[in-house]
Order: sequence, then structure tokens, then C-alpha cells
Amino acid sequence: MVNPLAEGQAQGGDMLREIPTSIQELAATYGVSVSRHTVDTVVNEGCSAGRDIYLGKSDDPDLELIAFFHELGHVLSEERVCKRGCVLSILSGEGLAWELGLGIAFEHGYEWKYDSKAMKYARRCLVSYINNDATKIDVAEAGMVVLVQKQGREGEQ
Ligand SMILES: [Zn+2]
Repeated sequence: MVNPLAEGQAQGGDMLREIPTSIQELAATYGVSVSRHTVDTVVNEGCSAGRDIYLGKSDDPDLELIAFFHELGHVLSEERVCKRGCVLSILSGEGLAWELGLGIAFEHGYEWKYDSKAMKYARRCLVSYINNDATKIDVAEAGMVVLVQKQGREGEQ
């Protein structure tokens, strides 16, 4: 049997190291699973599906941590805020996940200054959704919103 983690370490070095205990404990606090997604991931990005969070390769523990809180924001915003099963737009859903995730981070004692590397990373991630294909479809064709949202959930970042 192939161990994907061991295989990934051969390719990605410590970018695929074990997920820090602090993140694993936070995930457990919210009843969410967190694991390393080793295949074809963008460095320091995560994704989520249901209550499972996947963190990709990471070369910066701080960016990995804030990405985790963002994904946690996705999980909890779907359960707490977006009970109707969709969001107004991909962009507003991303903003919501960031704000909720950063709020949860703050509750646990994590706070980043406005011009820190982590917050710049967060804003860069958010603005990447402006005028991307999904957002354009949202705006151009309101009837596609549900479809776009369903697709976004599977491969969300
Ligand atoms: Zn996101």
C-alpha cells in the first residue's frame, strides 16, 4: 500500500509535514476533521467539504493557520448562516468565511495586524474571487448561483 504522506514528503519536503497539534486541537473543538491534502494543491491553501478540512502543502505555519481558520469559517458559516444552502455570491461567501474564521481565531487568542503577511495573504485570497469565472457567472446569470455554489463546495479554496 502506498502511503500518500510519505510519497508527498519525498516530493514536497517538509511542506507536507504533520499538521500542528494546535490546529488539530482547534479542529477537534469544533468537531471538524483536518488532514493533509497531498495531491495537486496550491501552497498554503486549504479546502473543505462538509465537516472535513484539507490543508495543502505549506511553507509558512502562520499562513497555514490563517488558512485553517478560513476553512473553519466556511464549515461554520454553512451551518450557522447559510442554512438555505447557498450564498448571495461566491465572493460574499468567501468574505463571510474569512470574517467568521478570523473572529473564531480571535476568540482563541490569534490576532494578526492589518498589514501582517497573514492578513495580506487573506486579502489576496479574497480578491482572487473578484471577476473570476464563478463570480462572473453569478453576476451574469442569477439562475446559475446554486449550480456554481455546489461546484464551489467540492473544490473550494
Ligand atoms: Zn474560501
